[in-house]
Amino acid sequence: MPFTRYSEAREALARGETSCERLVSFFLDRIAAVNPALNAFVDVDAHGALAEARRLDAALASGARPPLAGLVLGVKDLVCVAGRPLTCGSAILGDFRSSIEATAVERLRAAGAIVIGKTNCDEFGMGSSNEHSVHGPARHPLDPARVPGGSSGGSAAAVAAGLCHAALGTDTGGSIRQPAAFCGIVGLKPTYGRVSRWGLVAYASSFDTIGPMTPDVELSARMLAVMAGSDPRDATSCDEPPGDPVGSLAEGVRGLRVGLPTEYFAEGLDPSVRSCVLAAVDRLAAAGAEIVEVSLPLTRYGIAAYYVLTTAEASSNLSRYDGVRYGRRALGARDLQEVYTRSRDEGFGDEVKRRVLLGTWVLSSGYYDAYYGRAQKARALFRDDFERAFASVDLLATPTTPRPAFRAGAHADDPLAMYLEDVYTVGANLAGLPALSVPCGTVADAGVELPVGLQFLAPRLREDLVLRAARVIEVG
Ligand code: GLN
Repeated sequence: MPFTRYSEAREALARGETSCERLVSFFLDRIAAVNPALNAFVDVDAHGALAEARRLDAALASGARPPLAGLVLGVKDLVCVAGRPLTCGSAILGDFRSSIEATAVERLRAAGAIVIGKTNCDEFGMGSSNEHSVHGPARHPLDPARVPGGSSGGSAAAVAAGLCHAALGTDTGGSIRQPAAFCGIVGLKPTYGRVSRWGLVAYASSFDTIGPMTPDVELSARMLAVMAGSDPRDATSCDEPPGDPVGSLAEGVRGLRVGLPTEYFAEGLDPSVRSCVLAAVDRLAAAGAEIVEVSLPLTRYGIAAYYVLTTAEASSNLSRYDGVRYGRRALGARDLQEVYTRSRDEGFGDEVKRRVLLGTWVLSSGYYDAYYGRAQKARALFRDDFERAFASVDLLATPTTPRPAFRAGAHADDPLAMYLEDVYTVGANLAGLPALSVPCGTVADAGVELPVGLQFLAPRLREDLVLRAARVIEVG
């Protein structure tokens, strides 16, 4: 029995019907068979994963019961795993290997998880299709002509195709939720600060989060419970305990007020996605939730504010890649300035260059107040927008994306069209809120049945609410 579902693997392990080593071997075989077509994993640590599995089997045999024993995990290649290559989907890091381990990974491992490899992603997390990767694009498991979403496209494709039990993704503007929606899995972006960012390579530090990507809601809750909590190495991490995200799953939605923001169901939303999401909302009502309409009037400024602020932060964060301290250095430069410019020119892809240029421009003297300063003010107003909505509802329900997985190359000549794909996801990052995408049905597109994601958003630190609501959708 393969036990691709972690809940089954866990029970089988407890009954002694399988071993961590057998689980890892099974997934290694799956990766060997399926990954060449998907390009979801960019590094597989067969030796390390098998050694870890044997160590865990010995610990289990002597009575240890870590909460995530035998969880076979993929880790987005923007998150550090000690001793393993770290590329961030970029050429600029060359053959760099991480000497540190991200706190999230460290905590999952301490709970019994086994890291099987690193997953493909858009370069430094910049993109919505996983097409901007030095490793080449990851592909959608149901249709190789389509994108799996991005930037955590490799993680989503790997989980959806059963190449691991779960994966870590990162979400700065939707990169966990959008690929989760496209591939038909659950993706949870925790509250900003809920999970330590130590060991996550910075894209836009005041937006970046790490979260679980899983086949089901319960596993996301279990992983959150393990990863959450303050960390002295990340000053923005928060102390508040996550409560009991697993235990509260059974509480359902009876008596909860769920708001549908008018602006998220307006023009631009594919009509079949709209009906699919609204049908799922009806199921929430049938389960006892009260559905009301709310307004988030600033929604239409979200993309603009997001792309000004994140490019500004990126231009600063990415200045560390200079060809001197680590990573790739251009050969044959005549002076230091040329080392910098040529290393960066050769190492960064087009999308990253575009963002660094944009970000440097919005921060430059004379434009700072007009762009960066105004976008910061808009961000504060965004938070107020959500706060006003949460004064009258417990959580919000929206589509995760305006349409299902699009075709590879669809936005190749139009970066703005790619940015607009993030219209429903950036709000949670601007406001630092927890948000989750859960599969809520499928729609037919050119003869392929493609998954649709329903997004829930809740007030800060209320991951329990989005998980509970998602559980109701999941059980149907
Ligand atoms: N697509 C968005 C961007 O390109 C989101 C990326 C992310 O969340 N890392 O910025």
